[in-house]
Amino acid sequence: MSETPNETTHVWCHKLRIAFFLSAMRHYRDALSASGCTVHYSELAADPADDLAQSFSQRIITDVQRLRPARLILAEPGDHRVRVEITETARTLGIKLDIRPDRTFLCSTEEFAVYAAGHKGLLLENFYRWMRKRHRILLDKNGSPIGGRWNFDKDNRGSFGRAGPGNIRAPAAFERDEITKRVCALVARRFADHPGSLDNLTLPVTRDQALLLLTDFLKYRLNEFGTYQDAMWTDQPFLFHSRLSAALNIKLISAREVIDATLAATSRRQLPPSSVEGFVRQILGWREFMRGVYWLLMPHYAERNSFDADRSLPAFYWNADTDMRCMQQCTQQVIDHAYAHHIQRLMVLGNFALLYGVRPLAFHEWHMAMYTDAIDWVSLPNAFGMSQHADGGVVGTKPYIASGNYINRMSNYCGSCRYDPKKSVGNDACPFSTLYWDFMDRHRENLQSNPRMRYPLKAFEAKTPTELTQIRTQAARIRERVAEQRVSLARPEAEIRSGQCTPREGKTGR
Ligand code: FAD
Ligand code: SF4
Repeated sequence: MSETPNETTHVWCHKLRIAFFLSAMRHYRDALSASGCTVHYSELAADPADDLAQSFSQRIITDVQRLRPARLILAEPGDHRVRVEITETARTLGIKLDIRPDRTFLCSTEEFAVYAAGHKGLLLENFYRWMRKRHRILLDKNGSPIGGRWNFDKDNRGSFGRAGPGNIRAPAAFERDEITKRVCALVARRFADHPGSLDNLTLPVTRDQALLLLTDFLKYRLNEFGTYQDAMWTDQPFLFHSRLSAALNIKLISAREVIDATLAATSRRQLPPSSVEGFVRQILGWREFMRGVYWLLMPHYAERNSFDADRSLPAFYWNADTDMRCMQQCTQQVIDHAYAHHIQRLMVLGNFALLYGVRPLAFHEWHMAMYTDAIDWVSLPNAFGMSQHADGGVVGTKPYIASGNYINRMSNYCGSCRYDPKKSVGNDACPFSTLYWDFMDRHRENLQSNPRMRYPLKAFEAKTPTELTQIRTQAARIRERVAEQRVSLARPEAEIRSGQCTPREGKTGR
């Protein structure tokens, strides 16, 4: 096991993300050693000058020379870049490499490829039903979906209304032990110029803790999860969400365990089908689907840019310095917790980037930098594909765009914002609303071929020429203003993928 400098700097990682990974790795190392395994582990040095290896490949070359193994065995990594790096290193060394399937997923990459070859188009809903049948999950004895429907999506869109969510029990939080404290001290010193805060590292870093977080979710939040999956509320980062993604993605627990525990909870007590099916759909459907798409289509998947978006990511994604209340809330939450829930990611942070015209890979790289659950296989199809629609509709059947009215309906952010979500022109017009109509205007031709955009385009076509001119002028002003708010470049521009650059812009609020 190797704490490798390149893995903490190939994107400009949030401090909390680095600390979470390192702490979980060190706990796992100790658990393996305690069980009698010999572990060859290299820690990051306090001073970068003392690091013995910069990359996985350097580490492997040194260890192969030192330990003289007969072959290398690797569990499928979560990043195409790492798979290529290790495969090439093994080839250079002339040593056999055995890549084993990752058993924490329910659909192997080979099974997904067979599924994709046998189905016309990749549609989440079809894949999800296929998975339900294949694993016999939430089916009655005749093979029909329990509750009479495959999908309770329509019941997953409740908002809190004026009363708000009330007192929600916070998710289980885990105190820092000596290992985590040492890691935090290392990260604070060595990665002082990295974004984000270390204050809120309360995630599970061991398997036992991950199981406790799962139990806590099933007991206290699953019941309301279904109804309020899409709702947002000021100063409430977690609401009824599970917060399990980071533990799942670093394999402290498996998808099967999470689903089995959910089904067991359902057999013990009455839970709404919209919650149980809604939660199972995320794990068995979306999570497995995104991984399948990633490995099916990489490395060419990341080369598309269906709206030819080419703007830099606005500075406020790094420092939360914006007067848009919804963006301020969501970006500050990411700086503080390295977390946002799905609708904040999709309909606030991603929606603004898409409407504004951010280069899709720049949005993805920001995502990779700032979230504890970000791994390439899941961040790329979500951030680049679903959110920025850069893949032209592989994972999403339409671009996820919305005006301020949607955010107003699903949250209380607009109530304390200087802008008015209903207005798209004028001094207090909501930037989301202006940029929404402007997006329709700029991409009308592209959108016309999508049947799911028929109704929004109809509304757009009802705009008068005068209204359109006003919208275009106001949108141009917003772009100018946002682009001016550049913060100092903390790092030089870095080549991320061949031919693509991501500027590492700005220092964060803390
Ligand atoms: P919950 O709301 O409690 O959902 C339960 C679980 O379902 C999650 O833990 C997760 O494992 C799974 N899940 C739900 N939706 C998805 C999805 N679309 N893709 C994969 N798994 C899903 N998820 C990541 O794990 N890593 C990422 O890097 C990531 N990037 C995203 C980027 C964007 C722009 C968007 C819109 C979504 C992204 N997601 C990502 C999916 C989803 O937003 C997060 O999994 C979820 O918000 C994590 O919080 P939670 O554990 O509280 O989830
Ligand atoms: Fe966001 Fe617009 Fe609402 Fe302000 S008015 S919180 S910018 S959606």
